[in-house]
Amino acid sequence: MKVVLPDSSELELPDGATGIEAARAIGPKLAEQAVLVRVNGGTRDLRLPLADGERIQLLTTRDSQDPDALFVLRHSTAHLLAEAVMRLYPGVKIAIGPPVADGFYYDFEFPEPISEDALAAIEDEMRREIEDGRVWSREELSLDQAVERFEAESQPYKVELAHGAEGAISLYTQGEFTDLCRGPHLQDASSIRALKLTSLAGAYWRGDERNTQLTRIYGTAFYSQADLDAHLERLEQARARDHRRIGRQLDLFHFDEHSPGSPLWHPKGMVIYNQLEEVRRRENRRRGYLEVKTPLIYDKALWITSGHWEKFRENMFLIPGDTDDQTYGIKPMNCPGHMLLFGSQLRSYRDLPVRYAEAAPLHRNELAGTLHGLTRVRYVTQDDAHIFCTEDQVPAEVDAVIDYVRYLYGVFGMEPHAELATRPENRLGTDKQWDKAEEALRNALDRHGMRYVTGEGEGTFYGPKIDLHMTDVLGRSWQMGTIQYDMQMPARFGLTYMGTDNAEHMPIVIHRALFGSFERFIGILVEHYAGDFPFWLAPVQARILPVGLGHQEAARALGNRLDAEGFRVDVDERDETLGKRIRDAELEKVPFVVVYGDRESDDALAVRERAAGQSTLTLDELLARFHDLAAEADPSP
Ligand SMILES: [Zn+2]
Ligand SMILES: [Zn+2]
Repeated sequence: MKVVLPDSSELELPDGATGIEAARAIGPKLAEQAVLVRVNGGTRDLRLPLADGERIQLLTTRDSQDPDALFVLRHSTAHLLAEAVMRLYPGVKIAIGPPVADGFYYDFEFPEPISEDALAAIEDEMRREIEDGRVWSREELSLDQAVERFEAESQPYKVELAHGAEGAISLYTQGEFTDLCRGPHLQDASSIRALKLTSLAGAYWRGDERNTQLTRIYGTAFYSQADLDAHLERLEQARARDHRRIGRQLDLFHFDEHSPGSPLWHPKGMVIYNQLEEVRRRENRRRGYLEVKTPLIYDKALWITSGHWEKFRENMFLIPGDTDDQTYGIKPMNCPGHMLLFGSQLRSYRDLPVRYAEAAPLHRNELAGTLHGLTRVRYVTQDDAHIFCTEDQVPAEVDAVIDYVRYLYGVFGMEPHAELATRPENRLGTDKQWDKAEEALRNALDRHGMRYVTGEGEGTFYGPKIDLHMTDVLGRSWQMGTIQYDMQMPARFGLTYMGTDNAEHMPIVIHRALFGSFERFIGILVEHYAGDFPFWLAPVQARILPVGLGHQEAARALGNRLDAEGFRVDVDERDETLGKRIRDAELEKVPFVVVYGDRESDDALAVRERAAGQSTLTLDELLARFHDLAAEADPSP
């Protein structure tokens, strides 16, 4: 038989040859380093046979960043963990141990509870296994044999898993440990060069809280110590930048158990919020959007018309109405109100496009377990807008929205990238309409040179869309805003306009939110800047520190002067040493600190600028610097 290699050359092999035999046919070095074989895009254990005509790619220890190569490494490390735990804790019951993003876990039922302190010893035991050498072997057996085997070993979870297994049942053995497992696995443990057990958590068997609670041990593994070090460093940075932590430290917001998922914004957090709101208003005004305000609650009939009652009711907060059979829903989206607004008047083609903007509070009943700081909330404020236009106006409107996106993300020094989601199987509208709609979105992305990937078939049933993402300084990708083409909701609301032909036509609606939501955007900004906000966003832009009592009046006068120029300034008159007050200002990440003592005057101010160090400036120079930095809120396009 023949298999096809990545360079499209063919490799002749005996019938039924395995992945490892294919590797050996190419070279001994490759055979030694091979960890996995990719077959027609999927992955397969090296020990399994290949078939005639298959396209194969052998992954080796050098593919140290490849997600599949890392998966097989980490899953094999999970088996080492189970072996170590079974040796150290006789009587332990083992459940499942899959690889996950960034690592792996294994669930156990321990005879006695263990604590995080136990992890170091388990880790040592795993390292000993690697030193001693572990080779994986694979065998297949019948359901009866598997059940008999795991019953004899008093492993009830494995017995249950065997009963649920589909197809042939396979076992993998290394050292003293045999697991019921589909694989794939490494050839041997020598390629596991770095491992770490990271944490403990409780987890119910099969995720069901009516079942026994198990202990989940999380860990990770890499092909080199350097990769593990880099990973731990990234985790450490992510922890240091966690917006929930910085939010407390900088006094921006907090959450209260009385309203889960709903931030309570503190005055300093509100400064940031309002700065974004100012950018939103300014740009909407410049770009021809009209501010509107629509109700927060609507009756059930409205939600039936919009389709939310059918598709989104689970996520809505409902309130009883005036009579028993009446129900109101708090809005999870602004669209229905804007449909009512558009439909409230006769419209002509001359009125279009109409662009309604509203940043109203929205509520979505997200599951408590999925809430996460500002990035996953129940109280959401979108920088929302709906553009009503003719089909012919769509290309220019989408183009303008993409231009807006480029500008807006540029304000924060972020490079957005996009995902263009195209027509799904189930959809409304004709192919011709979809062609036009997708083309309009694609052309706009191309024209602005925006990076994007295409999600074939990922569009909504009512139209294609563009999802906006950004990558932060730690390389993490975040979903932000969205631009959606909609030929469904205007139809549900019976919206029309009078065309040039004096006949009624249906407008297209473009839904767009560019920050996405204020809450999420601010959460991401906090982490992106690690709390070191640019001058124009900083809650306190400058702090003045009078050296002694005698300098307080001059310090206050300076503060008032800067305040009158529109800057956010405070004076720290606390009875603390100068050093302590400077350190506090640094901890609060105040961009400018001005020390005012005997030698200072309007002609000579001692200024410490974050990142730029100390200098002596005149008041005019300081003001010029402030105005320059404040202008970053509105960079020229
Ligand atoms: Zn396994
Ligand atoms: Zn909408």
